[in-house]
Amino acid sequence: MINKVGIVIVSHSAKLASGVEELARQMTQVLVPIALAAGIDDPENPLGTDAMRIKAAIESVYSEAGVIVLMDLGSAVMNAEMALEFLPENTRNNVRLCEAPLVEGAIVAVIESASDANLERVLASTRDALSAKISQLNANVRCIKEQEYSLINNQDTIPKSTAHSRRITIVNPNGLHLRPAANLVATAARFQSEIKLQNLTTRGKPCSAKSINQVMLLGVRQGDELLITAEGEDGEEALADLQKLIQEQLDNPSSSAPYSSFLTALEGIPASPGIAIAPAFFYKSAPLEIADEKIQIDEQLEWQKLQQAIQKAIEQLENLSRSSTYEVNSVFAAHLLYLKDLELIERSRTFIFEQALSAPAAWKKLIEELIASYQALPDSYLRARAADVEDVGLRVLRLLSGVDSPTLNLTRTGILIAVDLSISEMAQLNSGNIKGICTVEGSATAHSVLLANQLGIPMVVGLGQKLLSIADNTELAIDGTTGEIWSEPSEEICQNLRSKDSISQSKTIFTEAITLDGQTIPILANIGGSVNARHALECGAQGVGLLRTELLYLSSSTPPTEEEQLKTIEEIAVIMGDYPLTIRTLDIGGDKPVSYLNLPPEDNPFLGVRGIRQSLVRPDILKTQLRAILRASLKYKIKLMFPMISSVQEIRAAKQLVLQVQMELKAQGIGFNQAIPIGIMIEVPSAAIMADQLAAEVDFFSLGTNDLAQYIMAADRTNTQVAALSDAFEPAVLRMIQQTVKAAHNAGIRVGICGQLASEPKAVPILLGLLVDELSVNPQAIPAIKEEICRQSFKQTQSTIDVILQLDSAAAVKDYLLNW
Ligand code: PEP
Ligand code: MG
Repeated sequence: MINKVGIVIVSHSAKLASGVEELARQMTQVLVPIALAAGIDDPENPLGTDAMRIKAAIESVYSEAGVIVLMDLGSAVMNAEMALEFLPENTRNNVRLCEAPLVEGAIVAVIESASDANLERVLASTRDALSAKISQLNANVRCIKEQEYSLINNQDTIPKSTAHSRRITIVNPNGLHLRPAANLVATAARFQSEIKLQNLTTRGKPCSAKSINQVMLLGVRQGDELLITAEGEDGEEALADLQKLIQEQLDNPSSSAPYSSFLTALEGIPASPGIAIAPAFFYKSAPLEIADEKIQIDEQLEWQKLQQAIQKAIEQLENLSRSSTYEVNSVFAAHLLYLKDLELIERSRTFIFEQALSAPAAWKKLIEELIASYQALPDSYLRARAADVEDVGLRVLRLLSGVDSPTLNLTRTGILIAVDLSISEMAQLNSGNIKGICTVEGSATAHSVLLANQLGIPMVVGLGQKLLSIADNTELAIDGTTGEIWSEPSEEICQNLRSKDSISQSKTIFTEAITLDGQTIPILANIGGSVNARHALECGAQGVGLLRTELLYLSSSTPPTEEEQLKTIEEIAVIMGDYPLTIRTLDIGGDKPVSYLNLPPEDNPFLGVRGIRQSLVRPDILKTQLRAILRASLKYKIKLMFPMISSVQEIRAAKQLVLQVQMELKAQGIGFNQAIPIGIMIEVPSAAIMADQLAAEVDFFSLGTNDLAQYIMAADRTNTQVAALSDAFEPAVLRMIQQTVKAAHNAGIRVGICGQLASEPKAVPILLGLLVDELSVNPQAIPAIKEEICRQSFKQTQSTIDVILQLDSAAAVKDYLLNW
């Protein structure tokens, strides 16, 4: 990898610096190391610069290629000079403070660095960054320059007879503006030949096509004729590429849109990977108008109407339940419970008979009361259930008023835009027309997002209110892997996204993930049922690293029987063939409640009776599941895994139950694999800390980084407001992973990761560096993860991991990875 010159932007204002960075990054697809040193840590007066911050920023982008520092003004310059004093001499010698104006300088520096220019060339071009603007704005300057050029031109012999050349007339109204110019420079820089551009119309001097300033100084406008010459072995090839580039970018007005179209990107939380380009389609259920006033009614008739509507709603939900996946079933099962709640029904009856309300008014009043009482609860999870009550309430109201249920089946291809989508609304996403989903609210680990992942629909959540300012039917592009969305994307952006998508599609050709230096990492899948198992294999899974069995429990109104569970496990095991199938025992509680267990409400469900704790409270339920798993283990390659282990005693108690079940099966003459591998999820900080002792108890570990991050960072993974904090890229989380892996390896057991972190391609170098043995990921992320591993040097990841673990935030880790 050629190191690129790093760029540091020093400003009194953090907002200004990040705006400059955003603008500069738009100029190239190449990742250039940029660091910001802007603002100070004083909430009262955040404007200022700090020498130590500047020093840290320089160090974060430093390589032997060197660093250019751009500053705004005043103390920024003084502090930048001071920062140099703090650097070791050999680093200092490779850093240049540049007097160029911040915006123009950053743009030129990024373009030059992207084209692998050396430090002195980047510095020279950056210093000259204003010349293009001067030339464009100052007619006199332009005239003088033209005269100078023509004088020089008279003496020049262009093109040399040995050079290859092309003449191209620019037809685009915007001429050769900055972005196409930047692309042109980047393309020219790929070739050895000396490449020159000359504006024949203005009779300008030929200039190097590898210098952004010189290209901009040509002042190429609509109608100008350009002469491109290339001298060198690859000259002809260079000319062909440049001609193609100019024609594609400049002869197509839509592709040379002004900058504004590049700057309309919104960034949210990446929830389900993939690319979608389609018009926006707004989803909002129509409000129902129900009259509240008392009218003359026939009570008996109204009561009958209400009962019929409730019965019809029950039938609808049962039908939906049958045709849905496990995940969605659970929601409908909960909705059914409301409609079968006799106390509620009785209350609505009294509204009709005692308050003389019509059937719709009585039902509406009941639902409003219920919503209000849920909303008054202190627990955020339970408060959120108000949405379920509203959902089921609306279903009955619609039936009463003869209004059809809203449907998410798009009548045209589109990207669905919504404030938020409940899992029951997501259940209706059976239309092939839905290319992607964007929501104002939501978090990446919410269970509704799991469904989008399983359906393979790209999704970005938490985009904020700005999302709603996009007009219906506006063309959108979304990247579910980065969380970016663009309104009215340029053809250039679309092409980039499409090629990114097709590269990732073609990645399935990699059957094994092997690093450049020969380290093989098995890539398994996280799944929720047999449908996903098939999909996972198609995506290249080498087994199942996590079967979330709770989905089977959430999908019915009674606990699944041993036979039902055995059937599901066998179905999946048959699909997996010789690959391993890791079955996680029931992980309920937290954000996955099960109605029939009558779990009492908890103030902090994520800190309550969750996962293994619940199973140890109800050993009858766990033992039924263990019987099914052990029976299946006789014929298939099955591994058993316990969730949410937080102490050595818990795993011992769980293993005791396994032993009991094994003895019962033996007594009944039923076969099972006596040596079934038993593992635990490491997803609670105490388990990571006690990993050495836990490793002595089990055969493998699997790191659940979704929960591990939420517990380490004390940030509820389902709460949008703190979702960004619950980030597994936090060095605190990474250090705990390292500690766990070391303990596992000391004990001679393997450790994988099945949390969302493993599905993030950019996390791959870190996970390799941390010596994680295998990854279990969302099926559609498998190709990209395999490809990323194939690109890495295992040795290099290990030599860098200590640097990463010393960074101070998830943002710094991600920034660091940008330059990987
Ligand atoms: C995790 O916590 O990382 C995990 C894989 O489990 P779940 O997301 O099902 O809680
Ligand atoms: Mg978990």
